[in-house]
Amino acid sequence: MSLDAKIPEGSLEEKWRNYQMKSKLINPANKKKLNVIVVGSGLSGAGAAATLAELGYDVQCFCYQDSARRAHSVAAQGGINAAKNYQHDGDSVWRMFYDTLKGGDFRSREANTYRLAELSAPLIDHFTQQGVPFAREYGGVLVNRSFGGVQVQRTFYARGQTGQQLLMAAYSQLYKMVRAKKVTMFPRTEMLDLVVVDGKAKGIIARDLVSGEIKRFAADAVVLATGGYSRVFRLSTLAIGCNGSALWKAHKRGALFAAPSFTQIHPTALPQSSEAQSKLTLMSESLRNDGRIWVPKKKEDTRKANDIPEDERDYYLERRYPSFGNLAPRDIASRAAKDRIDAGFGIGRLKNAVYLDFKNAIEKFGAETIKDRYGNLFKMYKKITGVDAYQEPMQISPAAHFSMGGLWVDYELMTTIDGLYAIGECNFSDHGANRLGANSLLQASVDGYFILPNTINNYLASELKNEHVTTEHPEFAKAEKEVMEYINRVLTINGTKTVDHFHRELGKVMWQECAMSRNKKGLEKAIQQIKTIREEFWSDVKVTGHANEMNTELEKALRLADFIELGILMCTDALQRNESCGAHFREEFQTEDGEAVRADEDYSYVSAWEYMDGEFKLHKEELTFEFVQPSIRSYK
Ligand SMILES: Cc1cc2nc3c(=O)[nH]c(=O)nc-3n(C[C@H](O)[C@H](O)[C@H](O)COP(=O)(O)OP(=O)(O)OC[C@H]3O[C@@H](n4cnc5c(N)ncnc54)[C@H](O)[C@@H]3O)c2cc1C
Repeated sequence: MSLDAKIPEGSLEEKWRNYQMKSKLINPANKKKLNVIVVGSGLSGAGAAATLAELGYDVQCFCYQDSARRAHSVAAQGGINAAKNYQHDGDSVWRMFYDTLKGGDFRSREANTYRLAELSAPLIDHFTQQGVPFAREYGGVLVNRSFGGVQVQRTFYARGQTGQQLLMAAYSQLYKMVRAKKVTMFPRTEMLDLVVVDGKAKGIIARDLVSGEIKRFAADAVVLATGGYSRVFRLSTLAIGCNGSALWKAHKRGALFAAPSFTQIHPTALPQSSEAQSKLTLMSESLRNDGRIWVPKKKEDTRKANDIPEDERDYYLERRYPSFGNLAPRDIASRAAKDRIDAGFGIGRLKNAVYLDFKNAIEKFGAETIKDRYGNLFKMYKKITGVDAYQEPMQISPAAHFSMGGLWVDYELMTTIDGLYAIGECNFSDHGANRLGANSLLQASVDGYFILPNTINNYLASELKNEHVTTEHPEFAKAEKEVMEYINRVLTINGTKTVDHFHRELGKVMWQECAMSRNKKGLEKAIQQIKTIREEFWSDVKVTGHANEMNTELEKALRLADFIELGILMCTDALQRNESCGAHFREEFQTEDGEAVRADEDYSYVSAWEYMDGEFKLHKEELTFEFVQPSIRSYK
């Protein structure tokens, strides 16, 4: 299979314009005849569904939550990047493009990454027009802060609730179109399979999560906007319901899965406090603008943080990375924290955390300013831990957070199945091996609002002359039957162990062997361990309840079965990449002082995996760098 990324011709600045000039258009009267399924109502899905409906298409939009506005984008805290250069601190589209490409350790496409930066500025205008209450200076000008891996201030924010405010805007647009009867919304409805007819995506099979009914939905194109899969680690900053199932089902139907092992571990979550815990809470990266990260210089120091004098503190990020300090990118900051914790300098009850300290910032700017900037995060911290972070440092720890990997897509965001698109966090496109903070809300939004609504016409224009496939097509009956049999199989195992038991086992293996650092031996062992978990799951899981009712145990079991298989693919992907790049840190490939060593001659490609009856075949999309020369990524 040859992977054609369909990169348009021209200089970086010209590519998107050239694409738009040449791409096919559809007459508004004809758009009405076309129907698009959008699975997901987060920023990418809601943005796409609302925009496609505005353009005239009929849209069916799905989410598993009880309301579209509870999609996980709502949880995003810190901000959204845009190259507006409001601060006059030297920012530009080119600089943002370069920061993003370098941040991803030169493992993404130049053209996609440039387009992300290019569309960032109009996106902020778009959201402002929709009424998003971005933080402003006293005089009314939008204000910015910094996120990791950059030396300018380009992050727009709405306190620590940026995702919520952006999603409210997208949701308002979506519901305007629902009221206009151009979007039909299906909340509490989970896609369980993709229907492919003659090589083209033509619909989905979904389960009504309230009644348990299995339903068929047909369309002229299908867009997946289903978010990230970091719950494969079980403990993560994602909501419990986040899953990778839609991606996995599409993968099994022929969509290649790209760079599955590129997953991001965020340095500033609240530490795990017990085995029974089911989720971790993020403390936004924005806190690293003012908070200083440190551990005691003495191992297993039992003194309270405030009793440890300045010269007995190790501000290890400032020490190791003086140019970027506490704003070193996430992969680097997480690994540095792990390094200190593993070496015995961890703090907290389980010695699995480091300090994030605002003492200096409060002395310099005053508590009121810090409250203005991060008040809700401090409040949340106090609510969860009982500790007042204005008085003593926060305790933070690395946690699984984001997936850079996802379905392989070309420049048009189309997967390797014709008519199947993947947008937002569920695709692999712009972030390479490490995503810079505040670039994800951006990617989800530009994919949904600006890119997909342009590129999908190119495909749908040719579908106009074809007959619409309906749910009566035999492929729908076949896929529906397979889904029902699969559910029945899960429900009739009637074993002795809970779904959570198996998820915990999977999570431990993934965290141990395929998270912040990886090695050949560990990955080989992990693949065997996960295969054993899979065998035990299919012979000994107990899923209570029935198929034709609301059954959250069944929902969890179906999602976990897919996570188990995805876990095997992630380890397989990490094993084949004999280099360290971004978040993929292979212990065998590092410098003496613990920095990543890339192998551009052999690994400058996007790995894209084909599913073949339980086995995986590797395809490679070679990355060519025409405009930027990959360099050693240094933040020192
Ligand atoms: C705690 C936290 C804080 C973050 N903070 C920031 C930040 O400050 N800045 C930033 O840039 N990024 C941040 N991120 C990342 C960012 O929020 C996400 O990457 C982004 O919002 C993803 O948007 P999305 O549209 O791709 O998916 P989501 O918002 O996750 O939406 C997924 C949608 O798909 C639906 N869905 C999934 N599977 C199915 C299925 N099988 N059937 C039907 N529907 C399905 C869901 O119901 C949901 O509607 C943060 C992430 C987390 C977890």
